[in-house]
Amino acid sequence: MVDGPVVPGTSSPGPVPPGTGWPGDPATATTPVAGSAAEVTGLAGSAPGLAELTARQSVCRACPRLVAWREDVAAVRRKSFRDEPYWGRPIAGWGDNAPGILIVGLAPAAHGGNRTGRVFTGDRSGDFLFASLHRCGLATQPTSVSAGDGQRLIGARIVAAVRCAPPENKPTPDERDTCAPWLAAELGMISDTLRVIVCLGGFAWQALWPVLAAAGYLQPRPRPAFGHGAELELRRADGAGNAVHLLGCYHPSQQNTFTGRVTPQMLDQVFRRAQLINAEIGAEVMTFEDDHHEKDHGGI
Ligand code: SF4
Repeated sequence: MVDGPVVPGTSSPGPVPPGTGWPGDPATATTPVAGSAAEVTGLAGSAPGLAELTARQSVCRACPRLVAWREDVAAVRRKSFRDEPYWGRPIAGWGDNAPGILIVGLAPAAHGGNRTGRVFTGDRSGDFLFASLHRCGLATQPTSVSAGDGQRLIGARIVAAVRCAPPENKPTPDERDTCAPWLAAELGMISDTLRVIVCLGGFAWQALWPVLAAAGYLQPRPRPAFGHGAELELRRADGAGNAVHLLGCYHPSQQNTFTGRVTPQMLDQVFRRAQLINAEIGAEVMTFEDDHHEKDHGGI
């Protein structure tokens, strides 16, 4: 790891030391670092809030193979990005801190999120995704090119189930399970507002089930198969909180978009459905709360 600051606009290789000026870097030099699966569980469970949770995610070193890969990619860099610094660290959850809609991918891309430090930013999948999010009113800009580009999500948050870029885009089951407590803790922290989870691709769909169980959601038996437009309602085992609707969506990978397996219209259809569910459930909750509010006053 390099010692000095690495910031956009310089040509230093990554990875970026925490708290050295990268736009949106949630961590500082004193953020605690998880070095094992047990430490991920401990640090995810003890984080006092979303800001500290994302800071801890962004410095995690619990998976030796992924740490070596992400840092090697950041040091060597692709030829076309040779003059850019690479983030080279885990990609933390990003977006609205009280979202109605959570978008879940599997893992960041080696020269996308691992380069820019933000999920689905700086690669073709991100171009496709953010164009749709913007058309559907969930992002302020139609593109997402760098951590300092001013992009913002509106009522939505995006995470990767596995936070580090894996070789050949394939995390191992152990790596997936080691990373799961970060997402489970994040789900717990946004559950008050969360109404819809959009799952991008079958791998993310599979990775999400143990996370949902750890976050307290009942598991349907049998588990429904992934498909574009698949939809089901999840409730918490303790009866608390909101029901959450899980929506399946084909991943906007280059392979899927080039072959037409997923089109802009198909992506828009899912995000407009997510918007509708979020608005309908939110309206129901408001009506319920208004009724109770009025009844409370009527009893005085
Ligand atoms: S994949 Fe997750 S658990 Fe593994 S090193 Fe990256 S952030 Fe940590």
